[in-house]
Amino acid sequence: MSYSEKPSRNRTRSMIKIMLCALAFVTLFSMPSTGFAQQTMDPVFTEHQKAWTTKHEFSSPLVDHLPASTAVPSPRDVLGHDIGAPRVLDRYADILKYYRALAAKTKRVKIIETGATEEGRPTVIVLISADENIANLEINRQNLAKLGDPRGLTEDQAKDLIARTKPIYLILGGLHSAETGPPEMLMELAYRLVTEDSPLITNIRQNVIVGINPTTDPDGRDRYTDWYYRNKIDDTDDLDPVPGVPYWGKYIFHDNNRDINYSGFSSRNLLAFYLQWRPPIMHDLHESVPFLYTFSGQAPQNPSLDPILFGEMPWISNFEMAQLTKYGMPGVWTHGFVDAWSPGYVGFMSTNHNGLFKMYETFGNGGATTELRHIKPVEGPGEDLHASDQTVREWFRPNPPDKTVEWSMRDNTNYMETALLSALQMTSEFPQQILENFYQKSFNSIAAGRTEAPYAFIIPGDQADMTKVALVINLLRLQGIEIGRTSAEITLKEGKFPAGSFVVKRDPYGRLAKILLEKQKFPDSKLKTYDDSAWSMGMMAHVKVVPTADLTALDAAVQPVDQYRPEGTIGAASAAAYAVLDHGSINMATLRYRLRNVFVRIAEQPFKSGDQEIPAGSFVIEAKAYEKLKAAVVPLGLTALALDKVPNVPMHEAALPRLAIYSTWGSTQNVGWIRYAFDRLETPYELIFKDELRKGGLRSKYDVIIVPSQGRSAKSVVFDIPMRGKPLPYTKTAEFPTQGAYGSSADIRGGMGLVGVEELRKFVMDGGTLITLGDSSAVPGEFGITPDIEVSRPTKAFYAPGPIVNAKVLKPANPIFYGYTDTTLTVRWATTALLALPFRNQNDVLMSFPGGDKMVQSGLMVGACEVKNRPAIVDLPVGSGQVLMFMTNPIHRWQNFGEFRMLYNALFSYKGLRKDLGGPPVMPDEPTAAEDKPADAC
Ligand SMILES: [Zn+2]
Repeated sequence: MSYSEKPSRNRTRSMIKIMLCALAFVTLFSMPSTGFAQQTMDPVFTEHQKAWTTKHEFSSPLVDHLPASTAVPSPRDVLGHDIGAPRVLDRYADILKYYRALAAKTKRVKIIETGATEEGRPTVIVLISADENIANLEINRQNLAKLGDPRGLTEDQAKDLIARTKPIYLILGGLHSAETGPPEMLMELAYRLVTEDSPLITNIRQNVIVGINPTTDPDGRDRYTDWYYRNKIDDTDDLDPVPGVPYWGKYIFHDNNRDINYSGFSSRNLLAFYLQWRPPIMHDLHESVPFLYTFSGQAPQNPSLDPILFGEMPWISNFEMAQLTKYGMPGVWTHGFVDAWSPGYVGFMSTNHNGLFKMYETFGNGGATTELRHIKPVEGPGEDLHASDQTVREWFRPNPPDKTVEWSMRDNTNYMETALLSALQMTSEFPQQILENFYQKSFNSIAAGRTEAPYAFIIPGDQADMTKVALVINLLRLQGIEIGRTSAEITLKEGKFPAGSFVVKRDPYGRLAKILLEKQKFPDSKLKTYDDSAWSMGMMAHVKVVPTADLTALDAAVQPVDQYRPEGTIGAASAAAYAVLDHGSINMATLRYRLRNVFVRIAEQPFKSGDQEIPAGSFVIEAKAYEKLKAAVVPLGLTALALDKVPNVPMHEAALPRLAIYSTWGSTQNVGWIRYAFDRLETPYELIFKDELRKGGLRSKYDVIIVPSQGRSAKSVVFDIPMRGKPLPYTKTAEFPTQGAYGSSADIRGGMGLVGVEELRKFVMDGGTLITLGDSSAVPGEFGITPDIEVSRPTKAFYAPGPIVNAKVLKPANPIFYGYTDTTLTVRWATTALLALPFRNQNDVLMSFPGGDKMVQSGLMVGACEVKNRPAIVDLPVGSGQVLMFMTNPIHRWQNFGEFRMLYNALFSYKGLRKDLGGPPVMPDEPTAAEDKPADAC
């Protein structure tokens, strides 16, 4: 739809703009391109591009044409449509088909296969450059590897390498499946880069190798596209959109951009490519705010990253902004959205490894249908939306977008592509500077490891549970961080460390090692951050990590570690029984499932066998299971001792409850993280939704139901997607084969409703165990399953973006804490709900938050006194059953490994959780004068 057919109050302004633009293009942009002027353009494309752009000002001279080629196929030749066609989204196989067809016809393209997704779709990187650069790729790859790890390189050698090397500029599109534009646009960009002979494109081709990751979440792309065609294609007004598809990838949704430990195959494949090819620039394409936001790394910034980076980001962003504004395109801005604090965004793999990260948010419609978009937010009573109002002029947004707009896929394509071409233009003008910076940042990173403490991190080799140590070591290795293992005891300022300890030196990615392992000191409590404020790996995994200020740590004799897999051991084949020592390994969970047909008991108290202390929680296993046990404990890194007699301590069977996980349809992500962990740890469960819940009869099917944290509130857990509009089927059909994966429903609207709540209540009354996690723990209190519990929310002043805090174990003998030896545990803060119990239920609280600033171990919590003495874990008897409420999230992403066991302990010992709970409350002592006002008083 062209602008001239549409009435608008901005018509006059736009008409003037059209005239000005036309004039400007003739004088400024056509002149230098004499060779380009002779190139034949594709008239059909020109016509489409013009017709699908809703306002002239939403286009630019860089994208209003496309060369005609008889040699290589255009997107239309392969897909049957030009890019930006209304109501058209391409599926991943077609996208790949296009790139392969392109690569088959030109020497300017090479496709690198990088692996496959969870659902088996191949992942690739498409490299595009001039013929000679593509022919020279391997040498270039080796050069970039040397610049990215310049140990042993002299300055002259570096200069020489830089002069002979082209930077790779790697672009990612479609990490977020609802952000549908980039995977379309990138095909056109690829074709343009291969075929166009304008000076701008020729220069890019000569001086830059452009890498394209066509769709960073291929599984999600197809699932979203099917959903779009089935349910969303008729969306024309953003005030009444149809909700999105329940799943993108197999497990996680939007969090594929928070996957700090690379659980997803697609990001892991990307990381492997990154470490092999070391692109100095990585650019991630997203859609949300209008019309184009180019990230420049606003505060808070991680101070461990190289200062050069924070000069580079706005350097390119400001150029893009000036270029697009010059072309007459409104609404291009930088600064003021997303910060540079957390290292967990996928594209941050570049900054984490001394590269340069770029990111756009463009304006997407969640599909390819042209829509009326309301840009100015509508303020409700008491709301001040000024900060989120992108139509307001700010110093960093000098030319804001209009308040409403008719917006098309082509408009979005024009913005993204014009900006990317501008960023590539800049890169092609300064390729040597980009490489110099890359080299210098890499050099500085290594140098910093020798001049700034900590010089290394020591992970002691004598930790009771080495399997969690292995998790940390292998995740660091995955990111290219070098680790050595000591062959003898070493003595440092911080103490003695036994042989077999790990030394994480700061080579070659010292900044990343430091960022991941250190305690996060948030720079300014008045600042907000876009995601988690803390991630300290040692605290998250309950692994001891010691930063050392002792330079001699760098001289310690070590063997390089590729992967660390502690091998388990088992005693002699003839024994009365075996004890698998419980030191908190999460592999104990996997062991239980591998021995599902074996009689496994849990020792409720510590005992001795000879001189060996065997902790409470250890598994006691019958002698006849020796072979099965051996086959399991050895690869799992656990220790099974041979016992000369069955211990005489209280024991109970390690239960294998019939387990269900409840998921809403509208918020499957946090459930997805639990599913991911359960699948990795070989835990069987049934995933149930509203239809199963409403049907009732839950107690006859399940012993335990877990309700993970999900939705925005308890109300949204119960009512989920509103019953508005038409039914929304998520079922597999011949036409839509990706639908119905991981669950299916003829209509995903409506939630469990009060009927579902009542079925959950009956389940508990009849003896079931209901386990709620994080924010979902507000449901039992607010919906009457545990009517004695009051739920409140902290004040508006409270702010806790995922800090790591101390929690106090109140019932250390309770089965929930098997495998834990401390009564103060680090946990990730995970709730917006606070529970209050009547005094008589004081003895049902298993763990609590002490409150106060001293509680905060890493990251930011403002108002820590508001949570003083609030329950962290509560088990309440209800009828014949119980409700176990975690105000923590014991499985937060694939990250807080130290907390996982609390949930597994609850499963294996669900029948015995109340053994030391309940009973009469204890009246508190009067505080003594000394205790009255501790230093950290609230
Ligand atoms: Zn996004």
